[in-house]
Amino acid sequence: MTASATAPAPIAFIDLAAQRARIGARIDAAVARVLQSCRFVNGPEVTQFEEQLAAFAGAKYAVSCSSGTDALALILMAWGVKPGDAVFCPAFTFCATAEVVPYLGATPVFVDVDADTFNMDPESLTQAIAVAIEQGLTPRVVIPVDLFGQPADYDALLPIAEAHGLKVLCDTAQGFGGTWNNRRTGSIGDATATSFFPAKPLGCYGDGGAILTDDADLVAVLKSLREHGQGIDKYQNVRIGMTARLDTIQAAVLLEKLAVFEEEIAAREKVARRYNDLLKDVCQVPAVDARATSVWAQYTIRLAPGRRDALADALKAEGIPTAVYYRLPMHLQPAYKHYPAAGAILPACEMLAEEVISLPMHPDLDEATQDRIVGAVRRALAA
Ligand SMILES: *Cc1c(COP(=O)(O)O)cnc(C)c1O
Repeated sequence: MTASATAPAPIAFIDLAAQRARIGARIDAAVARVLQSCRFVNGPEVTQFEEQLAAFAGAKYAVSCSSGTDALALILMAWGVKPGDAVFCPAFTFCATAEVVPYLGATPVFVDVDADTFNMDPESLTQAIAVAIEQGLTPRVVIPVDLFGQPADYDALLPIAEAHGLKVLCDTAQGFGGTWNNRRTGSIGDATATSFFPAKPLGCYGDGGAILTDDADLVAVLKSLREHGQGIDKYQNVRIGMTARLDTIQAAVLLEKLAVFEEEIAAREKVARRYNDLLKDVCQVPAVDARATSVWAQYTIRLAPGRRDALADALKAEGIPTAVYYRLPMHLQPAYKHYPAAGAILPACEMLAEEVISLPMHPDLDEATQDRIVGAVRRALAA
């Protein structure tokens, strides 16, 4: 007997092939239309997608761009963030949230998170602002992250930002489609950046991103910045910009994905609830604030320190992938550890980094496959 006859069939962490089986034909037709048109840059699908994305989020405007990272960078550029400015970022996040800050010569200041929601801790933000002022920095922007799909605590964060004159840049790369007090992310704060990286809840077939805002003046600057700082046209340059457009092909893909996104959000919610019901007695399952809905970019459980790697190994042996987001918080990363933080240690970030592990999560995860995952997790944790 060969090994493959006995090895269980591998399960996908995020099953983009299953999504293609559902809507691939429509996407392929949409891409084919762009190929026929040869309008690869700034084709009509780009504007159409921006209008539909803004309507979906409940924002006045959407400006599409080349990635979530560029969306963050473009906003900071447009706001004139500069050396001497402090930009407050959670330390438990994907690096891009903070990476864009030194692009502009400004200083990221790291903030701890709430251990239950994984999102920015308002008290720690207040401490971080005091640290920045003490160090002679000018507090300018806070970047709350909607981590793993759940919106940050905007009820607490927005008043702190207002009291200190901070702009609020929401990083909803993982949380687009989620809600806070019944408002979709993208309609909160001064501007929102999101990502269409394929693994995000709303992903394209490559890199892409967008900015959402109600601020018409900001939109005008962003549109100039994403096209080399153009003025009346591309050949008049009124500021230093970037080449940061969303490709027409990606906009065409996203129009088809946005059409089914509500259904996918509902399917994700169903998968997450079922995981919670079936796992809550063996590990710490993720908590969602009563004011929030999550789009479940990740389904992340917590285990006592030291138990995570054994679980990952046991699941791997059964063909079940896992991932650890994030093993090293930003304030301890080699490239970032010299930047200031709210305190000498950020206790929740450092604890979570030892405890978290994410299980397969996507809208096409059927009950039989989920039962296989749950069974393997329960067996491994009982061992
Ligand atoms: C993915 C991600 C980004 C960056 O998006 P890209 O499109 O990959 O550049 C930024 N912030 C967070 C929290 C992310 O998860």
